[in-house]
Amino acid sequence: MLEVKNLCKTYKTKKGVETHAIDGVSIRFPETGLVFLLGKSGSGKSTLLNLCGGLDRADSGEIIIMGKSSRDFKASDFDSYRNTFVGFVFQEYNILNEFTVEDNIALALELQNKKRDKQQIAEILKSVDLEEFADRKPNTLSGGQKQRVAIARALVKQPRIILADEPTGALDSETGRQVLETLKKLSEDKLVIVVSHDVEFAERYADRIIELKDGKIISDRTRENQSAPFAPTVENAQTRIYSERESAMIRSRLPARHALRMGATSVILKPVRLVFTVLLSIIAFVIFGLFSTVEFYNEQSVTRQSILNSDIQFLNYQKGYSATVSTYRTENGKTSLYSTQESVLQTDLTYEEYSRLNDIYNGSIAVINTSWGISNLTISDKRFYQSEYRGFAFTEDSNAVTMLAGRMPENSGEAAISDYTFACMQFGILTDGSEEDEQEIELDGYDDYTKIPVQDVCGTSITIVGVYKAENIPESYAELKQSSDGHLYTADDNSSDWYKEYSNGFYSYLLVDKSFTEVYLNYSDNSQSSSGSPYSYFKRTEINIGLNYVGGDDNIETFSYVNTYDVTNRLDLLDLYDLTGQQKVKSLENNQIAVPVSTYGLLLYDYLPKAVSDKKAELEEIEQQEAQEESGEEGNEQYKSQQLYSEFYSTDENGMNMLNRLYAVYHYGGYYTHDDKMDQETAAAILAEVDAFMAKWDITAPQVVLNNATYYISQTAEIAAIFYSEPGNGCMYLGQNLYDIFYRYSGTTYTTYYETEYVSPSDACISGVFITRTQYEDALQNIVKASFNVNEDGSTVIIANSLAQEITGVNEIIYGLRYLSLGLWLGFTVFTILLMFNFISASITAKKKEIGILRAIGARSVDVFKIFLSESGIVTAVCLVLSVIICAVLCPVVSGAIISGTAISVSILVFTPVTFLFMLLVAVFTAVISTIIPVAVYSKKPPVDSIRAL
Ligand code: ADP
Ligand code: MG
Repeated sequence: MLEVKNLCKTYKTKKGVETHAIDGVSIRFPETGLVFLLGKSGSGKSTLLNLCGGLDRADSGEIIIMGKSSRDFKASDFDSYRNTFVGFVFQEYNILNEFTVEDNIALALELQNKKRDKQQIAEILKSVDLEEFADRKPNTLSGGQKQRVAIARALVKQPRIILADEPTGALDSETGRQVLETLKKLSEDKLVIVVSHDVEFAERYADRIIELKDGKIISDRTRENQSAPFAPTVENAQTRIYSERESAMIRSRLPARHALRMGATSVILKPVRLVFTVLLSIIAFVIFGLFSTVEFYNEQSVTRQSILNSDIQFLNYQKGYSATVSTYRTENGKTSLYSTQESVLQTDLTYEEYSRLNDIYNGSIAVINTSWGISNLTISDKRFYQSEYRGFAFTEDSNAVTMLAGRMPENSGEAAISDYTFACMQFGILTDGSEEDEQEIELDGYDDYTKIPVQDVCGTSITIVGVYKAENIPESYAELKQSSDGHLYTADDNSSDWYKEYSNGFYSYLLVDKSFTEVYLNYSDNSQSSSGSPYSYFKRTEINIGLNYVGGDDNIETFSYVNTYDVTNRLDLLDLYDLTGQQKVKSLENNQIAVPVSTYGLLLYDYLPKAVSDKKAELEEIEQQEAQEESGEEGNEQYKSQQLYSEFYSTDENGMNMLNRLYAVYHYGGYYTHDDKMDQETAAAILAEVDAFMAKWDITAPQVVLNNATYYISQTAEIAAIFYSEPGNGCMYLGQNLYDIFYRYSGTTYTTYYETEYVSPSDACISGVFITRTQYEDALQNIVKASFNVNEDGSTVIIANSLAQEITGVNEIIYGLRYLSLGLWLGFTVFTILLMFNFISASITAKKKEIGILRAIGARSVDVFKIFLSESGIVTAVCLVLSVIICAVLCPVVSGAIISGTAISVSILVFTPVTFLFMLLVAVFTAVISTIIPVAVYSKKPPVDSIRAL
């Protein structure tokens, strides 16, 4: 059954001294009988016994168990071998103190995957005279009783082998005798190996006595029966063959409840360490939880929730398209990509698109954002009150807006204003518009809309027929309104926020009848050529060029968007015209520049009065000379000088002289006369007239100087061409040499290109659609979803309300934070694992004894793992529960603090089930990893290390 062959075991002390604890021992043990291993202390008895039980590993030699060689054993097979065949009895009893007597015995049974059998346990307890003690805890028992519990535990497994290491060592001789009597009885049908140094006991009870000295067998004696004398052992040479069934081993399985119980008692073993671990873990988990809300931040649901939480009555639905916006930077002649960004830009909707939207969202309001053709209100304090209308609005549903007074417009000659506009009119100065004796109009209630004079809009007269209810003004601007009302200036003036809110919300549209849009489109078509931003034709620069003329005081204008007039520069070219505004100019020579018509108008407006008066003086001088020479010949002939002046200052049918007309050119795109816009044709006519005038009177063109004060650059230039553009946009074409002088070696220019798949329909003219709250509430999820998707044609949806823009900003911040939070995550995971690792390692050290006992009974390292997993599980569970509670409380608090403390009005930290699940996942991961590692390290060592620690 059990045989050892040439076993050797050498211990090395730390100092390097070798002890041959077992030195070439071979024994074939009998199937049954009581074998004593005798020898002095240190002779190697325990080492041999432990090797036989698989608690320790031999350096060389083999153990043959039930016909199987230990050479073929896996590490856990030794555990299973013990579990199945071996009962251990130690000198120090080694029973688990936290378990009752019965539980200790039952545990051995359960490790063999057998049911706890109360009757069997009772019988076994009776056989060791302990039937009364089933429910006692070991610390209430005497030594002899404990040893008998240990024997009972060994017996309950019905082992074929009992290994007892000095079982009587700690007992008085009478108790020792009882124990040996018991073992003797057991040896009738089992192999019992007893380690002892008590020769007397050995000779009394043994069937065979093997004596060891310095790890070697010095004698081996056997007797046939109790009365026969001992004689040198003759080992049975025949090896018994064991059937599969006999030699089958049972793999241990520690029941979960025992693991949990042992884990639980272990938790509280080191309270200080426990408190620290729990506290630190909670902190880590909470930070973890807070950041995972960032990681699982759902921009769509946050957007939807924030809009629903807001008081927005009119959702600003716009069409957008995605474009790649690339900026190139040119410095010292080298051009490189500066930034690339995916952007969503607003684009107009067609009527058809509007009516399709209107079918889905009944009572939606189409708007045309424009400042064209609507006269401003006179308002001095433009913080809360704004003088401009945002544009026109019209709807096909008369219930879309609520009328506060009057009615909806019914034809193209009527319009309604909003309550906000009404307030602006009340606040500002509203006059009756009469030429003489202009009267200020006082507005009291909304019914006073009838007092509002006829408005001149897009060249037609519009009667105000009512006041409608616009968007609710958010609470947060109440203070700004109050401050504006009283012309007080408060420290925290949020007027720029209000401006964003106002210009993206449904506040100040002129509500017109749909038929009015025809009037508007005709009107804007006429002015179309001058609209549109010219910036996309130029490069943004870091150094500005000032433009002046020789003799002028200050710079006429400063330019920061420049370009050469060259097809190779990738940007589209604007049409250039000569200075009469008629002929197209194809190229610019060196030293030539082209400026906006408005700039040229201003330049001439500034330059001409002095040039004309100089010319007049020159003429007068000649005339005086001529007068002296031809004195006496006085005629009533008009002097040329006077003619010059009268021509220059003569007024046309509009009552405007040449300077007035040039000033109107400067305001290109605005009004010329009451009825006419300053458009391309008008401006060209004026320029041609001025050009002819200058030619006729031989007035020299202004000599232009370009300058930059920072780099001390000053260059004369010739204005060779103009392009039709509104005032103040700072755009200019430069001849190549000028461009080089200003930018190639001293400045940096930026050029922006827009790349998009999207092609805008030519008849798109509606800026956006306001969807009323009752219509958008249910559909919001779809609208929000659409705003995060880009269609195949490159188009998308923009929710343009300022709140939505703010959310977009927050989304971007959160995206940025994700990288940070990912890093923190990893950091804190490692931190918690280390904490828990430390805790479990300490526990393992503290629990060495229990582990040793379990291993001796036959538990595998998996069982040990279960115990410590239970322990770390309990600790992490406590941490998890507390952290989840803290997180759930903290998230709204932190979000609230962010909302009240910053300009952000979006709930960022939202604690969701996903966050909880994630925390759970991480907790489980932490518990498992922090247990696996120390247990794995521990499992590498033979179980005897734990036992020796006893
Ligand atoms: P016994 O049980 O007969 O008293 P042991 O088997 O315990 O003797 O010890 C045999 C020898 O091996 C002794 O000299 C002891 O000091 C040595 N020994 C046992 N275990 C270790 C160990 N872990 N490290 C070093 N030496 C050991
Ligand atoms: Mg010993």
